[in-house]
Amino acid sequence: MTDSDSIADVVLVGAGIMSATLGTLLKKLDPSLSIKIFERLDAAAAESSDAWNNAGTGHSAFCELNYTPQAEDGTIDLSKALRIAEQFEQSKQLWASLVTSGDLPDAKEFIRKVPHIAFVSGADNVQFLQSRFEQLVQSPLFEGMQFSTDHAELADWAPLIMQGRSASEAVAATRMGIGNDVNFGKLTRALLKSLGEQAGVESFFGAEVRDFRHKEDGVWRIKIRDLDSGDDQIVRSRFVFIGAGGGALELLDASGIEEGEGYGGFPVSGQFLRCTNDAVIAQHEAKVYGKAAIGAPPMSVPHLDTRWIDGKRQLLFGPYAGFSTKFLKQGSYLDLLRSLDIDNILPVLYAGAANLDLTQYLIGQVMLDKEERMDMLRVYFPDANDDDWDAHIAGQRVQIIKRDKDKGGRLQFGTEIVTGKNGSIAALLGASPGASTAVAIMLGLIERCFPEQVASADWQAKLKQLFPSYNESMADNAPLCARVRAQSLETLGIKS
Ligand SMILES: Cc1cc2nc3c(=O)[nH]c(=O)nc-3n(C[C@H](O)[C@H](O)[C@H](O)COP(=O)(O)OP(=O)(O)OC[C@H]3O[C@@H](n4cnc5c(N)ncnc54)[C@H](O)[C@@H]3O)c2cc1C
Repeated sequence: MTDSDSIADVVLVGAGIMSATLGTLLKKLDPSLSIKIFERLDAAAAESSDAWNNAGTGHSAFCELNYTPQAEDGTIDLSKALRIAEQFEQSKQLWASLVTSGDLPDAKEFIRKVPHIAFVSGADNVQFLQSRFEQLVQSPLFEGMQFSTDHAELADWAPLIMQGRSASEAVAATRMGIGNDVNFGKLTRALLKSLGEQAGVESFFGAEVRDFRHKEDGVWRIKIRDLDSGDDQIVRSRFVFIGAGGGALELLDASGIEEGEGYGGFPVSGQFLRCTNDAVIAQHEAKVYGKAAIGAPPMSVPHLDTRWIDGKRQLLFGPYAGFSTKFLKQGSYLDLLRSLDIDNILPVLYAGAANLDLTQYLIGQVMLDKEERMDMLRVYFPDANDDDWDAHIAGQRVQIIKRDKDKGGRLQFGTEIVTGKNGSIAALLGASPGASTAVAIMLGLIERCFPEQVASADWQAKLKQLFPSYNESMADNAPLCARVRAQSLETLGIKS
């Protein structure tokens, strides 16, 4: 085993959107940093961040009804929707800054304007959607949202969802013209390409991180296996980010930091139906989300989406959630079993017992045959023809299970950054809302792990340059929201 001579400033584990975003931000803030990126696969963005493995929604809460839950008394909680909408604005600001500086190519390569539509049927749901709309449009972040119950108008917005529907059916939709489809795979690869061209940045593929040791000198020793030769080497670094997606839990455990104890993972797999008929694909230009079925995990409401992948317009329905014991799409069926240890077995068992309905739901989803999947599609697209659709396996998501004082263990659906006490190591756990909010998540990580540098006048000025709304709230400031949003949309070429 060889020990590298030099000490890197930063090691990024995994070449997905999170590492790519963090590396880009850090290098913008401090161009002198040396960064090493290690990826177990042969290519970047080949797991969840690849366009065929996720749904490509630029999550802005324009159409995702699970971000505005309704309480028993009918009140609607907007807080998550407002937060996520603002976070996606930060993503667009960074991408626009990087297009302007030439670090990212023409934005058409990775982001497209695709209207976001929330569609419901049934009188109660129509009422909920109207009330949600009336409250959201009070915020500048949702300016321009439209609401309609008119069948002809809805057919104009999204013809496929209205074909074959009875004229007496109570339906409603909201539409945001500035919604986005994002090809996170292309974006990740473009960010890593630009990063790799900068001095002090090196990427290694087929290189699997196996273990970590933190020594008294404050430097991490990272054990890396070359998957071709089977040789191990030790790389030293002052800071480590575990951006390994579904592989993060195992590595957090290997780091031995006390803050990482008691976490478990609950894997949720996904599958899309992909339209193969160009005439049908051409008739739809929207992302259409609906309400989750009872028992469905919140991030797994299938939706009918226009996508831009492989330079071509596509139409996908899904992802249907499912259950698999793998933590990575290219992982092992033993991942779930291997993730259990003395620290997390109780939280995992408690969370499992408390969520038997979810497990049952997911196993039920796996058992669906093509006809049953088509029936779900027909809730959105009544005239869908079996011959026009084939199945496609999506990426894996690992939801977080956390120790809980009262319940023993708790399943949660967001993302969480776990950092070591001295801020020299951080791991990202969880999956949702995911890639869309990678920028906000990584900014939060930087603020936690590099507090002194963030407070410096130099980094503050650079952050303000990258994010015109830095340290201000677009939700609370209509003129700021209008100005900054218009700038981002103009630069990214996605004005409505
Ligand atoms: C079905 C599905 C639909 C989704 N839809 C959306 C959506 O519409 N909008 C949205 O914003 N987000 C969506 N997401 C979430 C989004 O895809 C993820 O949050 C995001 O891609 C995670 O990025 P990452 O960099 O953390 O992980 P990944 O892209 O998975 O990258 C992690 C990398 O780490 C590597 N790795 C793992 N272990 C090791 C190791 N030991 N050593 C070296 N490398 C390692 C992996 O090979 C991988 O390349 C979806 C996800 C799924 C699965």
